Amino acid sequence: MRKNIVAGNWKMNNDLDASIELVHELILATDNIEIGYTRIVVAPTFVNLQKIREIAEGSRIEVAAQNMHQESNGAFTGEVSAEMLQNIGINDVILGHSERRLYYNETDKMLAKKASKAIGNNMNIIFCFGELLEDRKSENHFSVVENQLKNGLFHLTAKELGFVVLAYEPVWAIGTGETASPEQAQEMHAFIRSLLSSKYGKEIAEEVSILYGGSVKPSNAKEIFSKPDVDGGLIGGAALKADDFLAIVKTF
Ligand code: PEP
Repeated sequence: MRKNIVAGNWKMNNDLDASIELVHELILATDNIEIGYTRIVVAPTFVNLQKIREIAEGSRIEVAAQNMHQESNGAFTGEVSAEMLQNIGINDVILGHSERRLYYNETDKMLAKKASKAIGNNMNIIFCFGELLEDRKSENHFSVVENQLKNGLFHLTAKELGFVVLAYEPVWAIGTGETASPEQAQEMHAFIRSLLSSKYGKEIAEEVSILYGGSVKPSNAKEIFSKPDVDGGLIGGAALKADDFLAIVKTF
């Protein structure tokens, strides 16, 4: 059965002290609540990953990186490899966030390499994709998403797909306060699952968790997560406050 997941992307927020305080709050609160099979993930900035992972060891909180490079090592100033992440005990990574695609020109082709590299190192990935506002306005959102998946991910084998969580994040809803309606999210998630089914078969498609991301907050999480093909969320702004993030986790 596929898992529910709530993942917090801290982006370039929270220095070491703030990261420690936030993860402590999350550990304490999740020790005492019944949250069944929900996975809870946080993604701090690179420099704080090791410390936060050490603190979270043995708790319900899993720690992921926000990005990684597709090569193992070499002259790639400022980059971090899968091997380096694993060396400090990080086995999960977010790939293809829209901010990486928009500000750092990450292409589907590059992301295909990153996905293979991470999975080749037995890392789990949260693979992000989603359309721009103009794509939705011109009713091209389904074809944009289809191309992002086909070009960035569908080279993987069925076995490799077992390492993948998908995160549908319409770019127009990220950090804007605008949210896709629960119906819009469900419509796209069902479409994504149908693409998975055509490529990998129904049984495998049913096993893949598909998260929604884009201005999820305590007030709208329940309705969005209640949709049958929405298996949780990738949370930005609301992941920075323990109370808000925990309220979202508790909607499961
Ligand atoms: C994100 O950056 O992945 C995100 C969903 O951000 P926010 O929740 O702030 O819209």
